[in-house]
Amino acid sequence: MPTYVNPQKCDGCKALDKPACSYICPNDLMILDVAMGKAYNQEPDQCWECYSCVKTCPQSAIAMRGYSDVMPLGATLTPMRGTESIMWTVQFRDKRVKRFKFPIRSTPWGSIDPYAEMGEPPAGELGKPNLAGEDRWLGVDELAVPERSLA
Ligand code: SF4
Ligand code: SF4
Repeated sequence: MPTYVNPQKCDGCKALDKPACSYICPNDLMILDVAMGKAYNQEPDQCWECYSCVKTCPQSAIAMRGYSDVMPLGATLTPMRGTESIMWTVQFRDKRVKRFKFPIRSTPWGSIDPYAEMGEPPAGELGKPNLAGEDRWLGVDELAVPERSLA
């Protein structure tokens, strides 16, 4: 289920260069209403439910409505992310609150080099539309490139 912004908590990320939710959303759904100084999800139907915006919001202003098998309809779920753990807060319609804390990593902070196995791209690769390591992860020597129609 899609996310939504609590305008009472959102401060528009005015201490940052740009709104964190807007920066992180892979589908460019979160935008800032400049006049109001508040962000909102402009197209909830297109939300991928990745919850990147929820987890990155410094004000914990973004919540989501979870599926009914996780929590009863009408409850909200809000995370508070730390460096070692994440705390999920469920607020039920009858105002009861429950919190669940989970570790988010098993390695020391800053110890992962996501590009360690990637190496420098060969000359000319930067001009291609492939994503980094895409052919390797897909187990092929080369990705098929669709023919362009000039018609
Ligand atoms: S990240 Fe949070 S505080 Fe910042 S603009 Fe988005 S909803 Fe508002
Ligand atoms: S949950 Fe993911 S796709 Fe949906 S608005 Fe947030 S960042 Fe964008």
